[in-house]
Amino acid sequence: VKSADEAVAIGPPQASESYLDADKLIAAAREAGADCIHPGYGFLSENADFAQRCHDAGIAFIGPSPDAIRAMGLKDRAKALMEKAGVPVVPGYHGDQQDPTFLKRKAYEIGYPVLIKAAAGGGGKGMRRVERHADFEDALASCMREAQSAFGDARVLIEKYIASPRHIEFQVFGDKHGNAIHLGERDCSLQRRHQKVIEEAPAPGMSADLRAAIGEAAVAAARTVDYVGAGTIEFIADGVGGLKPDGFWFMEMNTRLQVEHPVTEGVTGLDLVEWQFRVAAGEKLPLRQDQVPLTGHAVEARLYAEDPERSFLPSTGKLVALRFPDSQGLRVDSGVETGDTVTPFYDPMIAKLIAHGDTRDQALDRLADALEATVVAGPRSNAGFLAALARADAFRGGDFDTGFIDANLAALTGAPGLDRAAAASGARELLQREAARIAPARDPETPPSPWDAGDGFQLSGARRLALPIVADGESVVAEVAYGANGAMVSVEGEGPAADAVAVAAPDAVYVLRRGRQTKVTLRDLALDQVGDAGQGGLVR
Ligand code: ADP
Ligand code: ADP
Ligand code: MG
Repeated sequence: VKSADEAVAIGPPQASESYLDADKLIAAAREAGADCIHPGYGFLSENADFAQRCHDAGIAFIGPSPDAIRAMGLKDRAKALMEKAGVPVVPGYHGDQQDPTFLKRKAYEIGYPVLIKAAAGGGGKGMRRVERHADFEDALASCMREAQSAFGDARVLIEKYIASPRHIEFQVFGDKHGNAIHLGERDCSLQRRHQKVIEEAPAPGMSADLRAAIGEAAVAAARTVDYVGAGTIEFIADGVGGLKPDGFWFMEMNTRLQVEHPVTEGVTGLDLVEWQFRVAAGEKLPLRQDQVPLTGHAVEARLYAEDPERSFLPSTGKLVALRFPDSQGLRVDSGVETGDTVTPFYDPMIAKLIAHGDTRDQALDRLADALEATVVAGPRSNAGFLAALARADAFRGGDFDTGFIDANLAALTGAPGLDRAAAASGARELLQREAARIAPARDPETPPSPWDAGDGFQLSGARRLALPIVADGESVVAEVAYGANGAMVSVEGEGPAADAVAVAAPDAVYVLRRGRQTKVTLRDLALDQVGDAGQGGLVR
């Protein structure tokens, strides 16, 4: 909205009354005299009816034709189409029969483990991995229930669960003149609940020959639906023994720009959104396949307002501070800023951090450094978790698959419990603030130095003070010792952290250390008595 010349309000925060309401969007486009609509990458971006509505209204939909969206919208239909085009598809059953006994027999023939998938699914929802024949019926029933409620379509397909799976996807582009090329691959194997967490390009272990071979299959897939614009062909690869030509299978096509497109922009230097507009305006693709550049390595992390230490629960609330480093090779795409509120109405994504480097190690170092220097105060974030991922040895060594995060969860989320050094940093900040409040300003010209006011705490004549605080929901006592060098603060023997950033807000001090937040407040003894200490009025 800030970059736009004009903005039109389309409705309240509930997506169903605004971003998902085709009538309102088309009315807004008409009102503004817009000749095209870019649908972004959520909401109606893969909705064939919306694309059709735009077309009917004489407004260009920046994306493929409604027919192409429809052809790829259902995973079972798309797989059947790909099979016909000679693109390898994941072994399994993707026909029309939905009788549980029949599907169970198919699962047995495919061989366990299998994956039951909602045909209309997306966003990692509507999937069940089944290990044993005996568990099939229950898994099928619950998958169909979820598919019906989430996508309004209970139909499923059955796939072989690929051992040691790697998610490798190809960025494709088509124009209205029959041209189609690919812009290389992205490796999105670091996932949680089948959703991407970190994406990179090129894929570790990918050779130029292999890229050309799979890229050709991806382009063939796009051509079967006369694809126009930006799209992604997702493959599942068998990672056992490294990537290999006969270990790739088509999984699905996303008929839109992806969240992770900046990774491709990083290694190609191209602007994919610009390409989308050019293609929609009827221009030819700006480059031929052999002209597509590939330089260095790029990696993206999705920064979320969520709490890795509490099962990644979304963490809503006001962003007391949001700051990103301005470091070399770093790009930050952010939709919010300091003072904004993370609401439950949308995906709690705060930003994407994309690092580019000459080598994979340099890109990952830059990403990890940037994540650790990022300040998210207020809601908790996954910055520390993402940094730990970017630094993880096995991942660095290229030894990973889609199970990596689950297998290493405890190490990645860090030791739960109080960060004493961060708590001490927060206590020192609170003390300075209290001192500044209590101390009478001696000279109105110079602001009071909190350390001059140490006397204010010597009410009992003692040189030590116990400051009751609540840090990260835990009641602890900060020790304050007054010596020749002023006040020394410690929590359970640990002094303030040298690498911490303290953000003071009216309600608390937020200490950020290596991407992890510790919220520190003075313990209000009156509140203690009503049993509400440290909860900030929130029900956890
Ligand atoms: P990708 O495959 O590129 O990761 P996703 O399928 O996860 O993309 O969806 C793209 C983004 O749009 C995600 O952040 C997702 O949560 C968001 N999104 C998709 N559909 C909706 C919707 N109906 N309402 C709100 N957010 C949505
Ligand atoms: P969605 O529409 O939700 O993105 P996908 O079919 O793309 O669904 O699958 C999402 C993720 O689930 C993949 O990125 C991959 O990690 C995992 N997955 C899907 N199919 C398989 C399979 N056959 N074997 C192993 N993992 C799979
Ligand atoms: Mg997918």
